[in-house]
Amino acid sequence: MISLDEALCIVLAHTPYTPGERIDLEDARSRILAEDVRSDMDMPPFNKSAMDGFACRRDDLDSDLQVIETVLAGNTSQRVIGPGECCRIMTGAPVPEGADCVIKIEDTSAQDNDNVRFTGERTRDNICMRGEDIPKGGIVLRRGELITPQHMSLLASVGCIRPMVASRPGVGIIATGDELVEPDTQPGVAHIRNSNSIQLRAQAQAAGACANYYGIVRDNEKDIEAILKKALAENSIVLLTGGVSMGDTDFVPAVMQTCGLDILFDKVCIKPGMPTTFAASDKALCMGLPGNPVAVFIDFEILLRPFIQKSMGRSQLPRRVYLPLEERLTRKRTERESWMPAIITDKGEVQPCTYHGPAHVGSLHNADALISIPVGVATLEKGEKVQAQLLFR
Ligand code: AMP
Ligand code: MG
Repeated sequence: MISLDEALCIVLAHTPYTPGERIDLEDARSRILAEDVRSDMDMPPFNKSAMDGFACRRDDLDSDLQVIETVLAGNTSQRVIGPGECCRIMTGAPVPEGADCVIKIEDTSAQDNDNVRFTGERTRDNICMRGEDIPKGGIVLRRGELITPQHMSLLASVGCIRPMVASRPGVGIIATGDELVEPDTQPGVAHIRNSNSIQLRAQAQAAGACANYYGIVRDNEKDIEAILKKALAENSIVLLTGGVSMGDTDFVPAVMQTCGLDILFDKVCIKPGMPTTFAASDKALCMGLPGNPVAVFIDFEILLRPFIQKSMGRSQLPRRVYLPLEERLTRKRTERESWMPAIITDKGEVQPCTYHGPAHVGSLHNADALISIPVGVATLEKGEKVQAQLLFR
């Protein structure tokens, strides 16, 4: 049995990198940048008025100002602002030469048609200087960054309309179990619905991968071998659920070996999720997850989300933060690192979800985070800080 940290190190040490591809900016949300993006121009590209008002010389603020023209956004001025002069200017318009500040319209009074006077006490310059946000050639986003909606405007501003992003790694998903039926089927006596595959598929997609589902395979070595071989040839990693424990029909680890994979670990010191099995050859990777849905969910978030993110070159692995407990947390056995679903309250505390064990799929529905209790710890007091991995970030 190895620790969870060791297991994560082994998984990450075997993570292959996916190549890059150019895509349209419209399709780039939630992709990972595969190259640094530089600005092709100064931002702003000219000294730009930040206000609707009058552009003038700061030295002239105590006297009447003669309005010599109007500059609208999208236009340029041909005039130079001289002593005692100003121009009407709108937000976003280039500030004419000679002016060194823009006074807000609210801080002025019209003396007559051609003259205004500053009525405020003092004013900022209200000019966004050329290049002050981003200089030409400056890096605006680095490779490894997850592209969020707020990055889209940045990429658009610098003309990056075909960003280079990491290709999505293929994640094959196989469910094993004689008791399983697909969710659209009414289970018979002793049958249950396959809830793992659709969950794993969604988790893989949410992490940025391309999920490929291979169906339910019965607890039979030949059938598992055939489908596993096909999936290994078609994906960066293949995930199987069920069939990795000590039961009479738990054939998955043996079949992995038949398929030419070496088992790198088959027991992790985590609760739930202990029988997690990771196997590799020089061409393929495979992880056997336990059958229970909560164990599958947690295993994925802790071990496989980092794998997917690293394979796409993402600079940040899943966010972990330390937060105070909203209530005392106790457990009897302390040999394994526990992970469980929790809610983050409005006060920023963590409240463990009602959790009956790894088959309790309803325990996850309102979880904001997974929290851990380290090996050897039986009690965590109210207010004590626990490690929390935030979900879906
Ligand atoms: P196993 O590891 O195959 O012994 O499965 C452990 C438990 O998880 C059993 O109660 C299974 O019925 C359940 N289980 C296995 N696969 C799935 C699945 N795909 N969806 C939901 N539950 C499952
Ligand atoms: Mg089974």
